[in-house]
Amino acid sequence: MTRPLLLTGGRVIDPSTNTDAELDLLVVDERVMAVEQGISGPDDAVRISVEGLVVAPGLIDVHVHFREPGGEHKETIRTGAKAAAAGGFTTVWAMPNTDPPLDDPAAVGYVREEARRWARKGEGGARVSPVGAASKGLAGEQMTEIGGLVEAGAVAVTDDGYPIADPLLMRRLLEYTQRFDIPVLQHAEDMALTAAGVMNEGAVATELGLRGIPNVSEAAVVARDMFLAELTGGHVHIQHISTREAVGLIARGRERGVRITAEVTPHHIALTEEAVRGYRTEAKMNPPLRTEQDRLAIRQGLIDGVIGIIATDHAPHHYEEKEREFDDAPFGIVGLETALSVCVTELVSTGDLTLSQLIDRMSCAPARTMGIDGGTLQPGSPADIVVFDPDVKWSVDPGQFHSKSQNTPFVGKEVRGRVRWTIVAGEIRYEGEA
Ligand SMILES: [Zn+2]
Repeated sequence: MTRPLLLTGGRVIDPSTNTDAELDLLVVDERVMAVEQGISGPDDAVRISVEGLVVAPGLIDVHVHFREPGGEHKETIRTGAKAAAAGGFTTVWAMPNTDPPLDDPAAVGYVREEARRWARKGEGGARVSPVGAASKGLAGEQMTEIGGLVEAGAVAVTDDGYPIADPLLMRRLLEYTQRFDIPVLQHAEDMALTAAGVMNEGAVATELGLRGIPNVSEAAVVARDMFLAELTGGHVHIQHISTREAVGLIARGRERGVRITAEVTPHHIALTEEAVRGYRTEAKMNPPLRTEQDRLAIRQGLIDGVIGIIATDHAPHHYEEKEREFDDAPFGIVGLETALSVCVTELVSTGDLTLSQLIDRMSCAPARTMGIDGGTLQPGSPADIVVFDPDVKWSVDPGQFHSKSQNTPFVGKEVRGRVRWTIVAGEIRYEGEA
């Protein structure tokens, strides 16, 4: 049993309770006990003065790749969970495209238990919830046994890395997942349209002599899945939105009451295809970085709430793999340890979102949308908390990452805002420097 914890004098921002005030917060028995002014607290409480810092519900990331089993040289469940905690995340959803994939109950159960095992040893980070594969072997043909996966701890299903391409399979998934009240997460990409593309289709790709991926590759699948969600009543969640067309489609679907939700990554908010110049493989990702027009549309979607959630798509790759020629390098970048700072810099410092709105997109909204127990500091809720300095400036140094991988396009970027403490179930799982 951990000792009670008393955080004093912080600026508590909890959009779930419309709170933004200087308050103390008391944690007892892994739960938030009180959020009030002038809590004296039990005598045995660990007291931390957090004056000048923001105290918020722990961040939730519904899209990470931890590579275990099969890719432990890139990331493990342990290092991934620690990287997540260092980024202020208290719950993350691990994607099933491991080797072998998480397409049976044993594999799903392993991911959940592995994270818990390290936590019991005092080596824990964020809570790790496994996402099950939607199709066996991620082959896009035969549906997995979803009931068994859910029983083993799966919180959603997806074939991420690949799209669920077969429309009939998607329809059946949207019908069947309703029994378990879980979403189908879709990596929206028509791979026939993507062909062998490696970056956004357009002028920059032409200049660089690289094959392009058109916007319609994403938009066509979003449109189809919106209609399938409408037909079935199921919940489709579109991962890593990158195009203005997709934002428009989702806005229309939501107006009609379709259960379609979406996420955007910090890198699609911050960067465009220009970042690829110089054949920089750390700017190679799928979906690709798009044009300025797309970037602005996505930001607006996030501001308006059409896109409710920020998710990192944390995709660790080994240095040597990213050193290959652009065509041959793998897609993806790490994101857990830069997400909050990049978003504070790109969205809050610019006046586009308030801190409270940002915390909503990174914590409350994922909890609300996906039915996750968290995203709130309401007394009685799990004591999953992030404490961060919203003003401090620092520059991104991947050498300091807790992740096993360092593939980030934000090397050397001057950012604002840094995590000081991450608390999971009332236990300090990360303490950063002042
Ligand atoms: Zn994906």
